[in-house]
This record gives sequence, C-alpha cells and structure tokens, in this order.
Amino acid sequence: MKTKFVYLSILLAFSLSGVNAAVPDCQSVVIGSGVAGMKAAMDLKDGGNKVCLIEKMPFPGGATNLAATYFVAVGTKEQKAAGKFISVDDYVARQKKMLPNVDVDKLKAQMLCSQKNLDYLNSLGANITRVLSDYQIGTADGTSLGSSIVKVMFKALKEKGVAFYPNTKALDLVLKNGVVTGVKVRSGNEEFVIPTKNVILATGGFAHNQKLVKKFAPEWAGLPTTTAVGSTGDGLEMAVEHGAKTAYTDVVRMNPSVHSENGVNSSLSAARAEGGIMVNLDGKRFCNDYYPDYTQLSRWLQKQKGSMAYIVIDNKAMKASKRLQGFKDKGYFLQADTLAELAKKMGVPPKALEETAKRYSEFVKNGKDLDFGRQHNLTLDFSQPPYYAVKTQPGIQVTLGGIDVNNNMQVIKKDGGFFPNLYAAGEVTYDGSFRPGPTAVGLYQGHIAAQNILRKSN
Ligand SMILES: Cc1cc2nc3c(=O)[nH]c(=O)nc-3n(C[C@H](O)[C@H](O)[C@H](O)COP(=O)(O)OP(=O)(O)OC[C@H]3O[C@@H](n4cnc5c(N)ncnc54)[C@H](O)[C@@H]3O)c2cc1C
Repeated sequence: MKTKFVYLSILLAFSLSGVNAAVPDCQSVVIGSGVAGMKAAMDLKDGGNKVCLIEKMPFPGGATNLAATYFVAVGTKEQKAAGKFISVDDYVARQKKMLPNVDVDKLKAQMLCSQKNLDYLNSLGANITRVLSDYQIGTADGTSLGSSIVKVMFKALKEKGVAFYPNTKALDLVLKNGVVTGVKVRSGNEEFVIPTKNVILATGGFAHNQKLVKKFAPEWAGLPTTTAVGSTGDGLEMAVEHGAKTAYTDVVRMNPSVHSENGVNSSLSAARAEGGIMVNLDGKRFCNDYYPDYTQLSRWLQKQKGSMAYIVIDNKAMKASKRLQGFKDKGYFLQADTLAELAKKMGVPPKALEETAKRYSEFVKNGKDLDFGRQHNLTLDFSQPPYYAVKTQPGIQVTLGGIDVNNNMQVIKKDGGFFPNLYAAGEVTYDGSFRPGPTAVGLYQGHIAAQNILRKSN
C-alpha cells in the first residue's frame, strides 16, 4: 500500500486529556519521553514554547523506568546533614583519577546542579532523600528510583498540559541546508512529517539493538541487556545518517550479574550486594566479586568457561533481600541443604565448591580476602543453609557514548561546527562524564537543551 505523507497540523491525534484533539503546530519536537525528554518538554512548555513530546512506546519513561537505586548528587545539604559530604571539586578529581578521559569541565557543570536537580524532583514528590554515599541518594523507602521519577514527572507533565504523543515513532529528520525543518514519524498506519523549528533527540541508548552493539561496541556483542526494549539507538542512527559526530560509542556500563529466563533479563546484583560470591564451573572464585568497576568485572567473567558464573549465597543473605526472594519465587535459584548437593545441581565439582566456601568463610571471619582483596560486603560465612546459586552472565546496562554535543546540547557535526537547531540529551549522547548517574545527567541535559531553545526564540 502506498505510504501516506501528511502534515501533522491537519491530523487529529491523541492528547493528554485522553480525547482526540487538533494538534497544534510544534515549535519544538522532543523525541523520547525518558527523564531527559520529559524535563526538556516541561521546561519548554514553562517557557511558552509550543512543544510536542513524541514517544514510540504506548507508555512514557523508557529506560528511566528501570533505574534501580541511586540518583547521583554531590555536595548537597542532605549529604552534609548525613555526614557524607564531598565537594564538587574533590568529587571531580576523584572521578578523573578513575576515568582519565573524563571531561572535567562538563562533569563539574553537571555536578554543580546536584542540589537543583534533587530539589526539583523532590518538589514534584519523588522523595529522593535517603543518603547512600557522598555521591548517591536513593528514595526514602527504597522503592525503585526510576519508577518514582517517571511517575512524578509524567504527572507534572500532564498537569502542565504538555502535548504528548505515545505510539508515535520518529523515523527520520528532515533537513534543509543543514537546518532541521521537520521530523518524519509513524503513528498507527500513517507516516507523516511534523514541521518544527527545533528538535531534541532524547531517544535513550542503543543496548537493545544488537546490530548497533556489534557496530559500536563489538566487545559486548551477543550479550543480553537489562535495558528497555525501546533503547534501540534510533536517535543515534538518525543523527549519524545526517552527519553527526559520535564519541566513545564503544564505552558501556556492564552489569556483571544478569540472569536470563524465558527471554527476561534480570539484574541479580543484589545477590552480590547481600554478600554472594561468584563461582565458575570449576567451583572456584576467580576475582574480587565486588569490584566496583562492573565493566572490568564483566571482562573477568567473560573469560570463564561458558562465559558464565554462579552467584552463591546462603539463607541469611536470601532472608535479607525482598528482591532476591522475589527471584527465588520465580524459580531463578537452585537450592540445596548442603553445598555438595548444590554443587551437583550446578554441575560443578562438589569438593571444589566446599573448599571455596570454607576458605571464603575464613576470610569473612578475619575480615580479609587473601585471594582477591574483596573489601565490600565481605559477609557470607555459609552458616545458614539452605544454600542458593543463580546462573549469571554479563549484560549491557547503559551505553555511555553516543552523539557528541556542545555545551548547549547542540549536535556536533562530523565535519566541524554544529547543527543550529538539533539538540540531544540523555543516554543518546556522549555527555563528557561517562554518565556517573544517568538519570541526573539526563535531567541536566534536558534542561540545558530547553533553555538554549528558549533563549534563542526570545
Ligand atoms: C537495570 C538498570 C538499572 C539502572 N539503574 C540506574 C540507577 O540506579 N541510577 C541512574 O541514574 N541510572 C540508572 N540506570 C540508567 C538510566 O535508567 C538511563 O540511562 C536513563 O534514565 C536514560 O534516560 P533517557 O531519558 O536518556 O532515555 P530513556 O529513559 O531510555 O528514554 C528514551 C525514550 O525514547 C523513546 N524512543 C526511542 N526511540 C524513539 C523513536 N524513534 N521515536 C520516539 N520515541 C523513541 C524510548 O521508547 C524511551 O521511552 C539504569 C538502567 C538500567 C537498564
């Protein structure tokens, strides 16, 4: 059937009120309704800009919905009160030591917005107040960070009356003489162009697109991902197609503890956090199983037989975590009353597993891991049967490189210069800091992109 191209201004579309309404002209189109896109859209609306927020899925939030634990913030009054304070300068210096390629100016600019970001989300009701460390804050009651953020931001977005178009997929950008004039979209069976003066690409990462993982981060091709199904790199591909520059697309944040069951990939990091050790098919530990660099940890795991490991815990660890109990109820864990029986179920030599557990419980007793120097959560003494093991492999959690942007979030061209009215924000970008806290960076970048559009249009 011949594809129909029509302009959105003559279409009827879904509006937030839930009724069909005539679509206004869009001065700005924001593509993607994760934290970056929602923030940009709300700021634009607040500034009097006619903004349309389009989303290919039937619901908002993207990978932001999945953000599990911590919002990155530094030097806040909450951290000061909790005695976990570090200055922004000291934090930046610490990051630079760990990540020599980090852009210190960009990281500093992001971190100086910590209090503002936090106050903004909490003013909407996100309740991100539980200080976890000098750079991490979680929700007060430990509920998932991302779902709290999406819930309160989407509510605010509706209250402001931002025009939101779910089930509307951006297919391409329309450019004339290097300036974006529209976005080609598909909604239902229709394909049409939304004319616009500005576009913000906030389409998230690309970990759910094996073709792009193979192209950009081949080291991790073929592995599962814990990210959202919508994270297929659409914005990255569109921008590259029109000559955008990319940076560090090979850099990803791995999750070393992914369990795959019936096509669902779940993060079992909680099992290590509760003290669990990683054991290979020889029944042996092979690294510091609580090493803070998850990508390095994943590399060690990749080198093991079958590129997999079991995380082993005892009942004390299981009882401490509701999340783990939920996974147990889903049947993810092997279970046995003795380590020898558990080893048989795992297919590892029973003697070796018993030896590993005996040696490790000595380390726990003495507070020193003589084999691999594990320092954190050195608690598993195997004192409480039954024992549990869950099969895990590495998976991609967040992509850290992407479209290169300038300080206004304008997309930089491969051949020099930048697109004057094409912006990018969130996981679709290379942000300069390798996204220590992706939700915080998305919030910051969405805000900056919107402010720049507003400044230019006034
Ligand atoms: C398991 C897991 C745990 C995490 N834990 C944390 C954490 O503790 N703390 C933290 O800060 N971060 C965490 N993150 C990372 C964080 O969730 C994301 O990196 C971040 O929220 C991405 O925000 P975004 O707005 O850039 O993209 P997203 O939230 O992914 O939003 C992008 C949106 O764009 C839509 N879209 C894509 N293509 C198109 C198209 N062509 N047309 C229209 N719409 C499109 C998508 O459907 C999606 O809704 C975690 C991620 C995962 C997967």
